[in-house]
Amino acid sequence: METLMPAEYTQISCEDGTYQAAICHRCNTKIFPAELLDAHLDRHQIKDLYLEGELKKLQFAMARMR
Ligand SMILES: [Zn+2]
Repeated sequence: METLMPAEYTQISCEDGTYQAAICHRCNTKIFPAELLDAHLDRHQIKDLYLEGELKKLQFAMARMR
């Protein structure tokens, strides 16, 4: 497992105060509340794994076509 990069944080000002939001280092999306960053990163990872699997299937199919 790769080690996750430390998350960046930013402040979001709302009418009733300032909140901390995390910034996803993969897509630069502001995640609020910051606790949701984990779930967000999980989704990236799942997508990565899915794409990797699809790519392997594709490469396998291509190799067989030759
Ligand atoms: Zn992201």
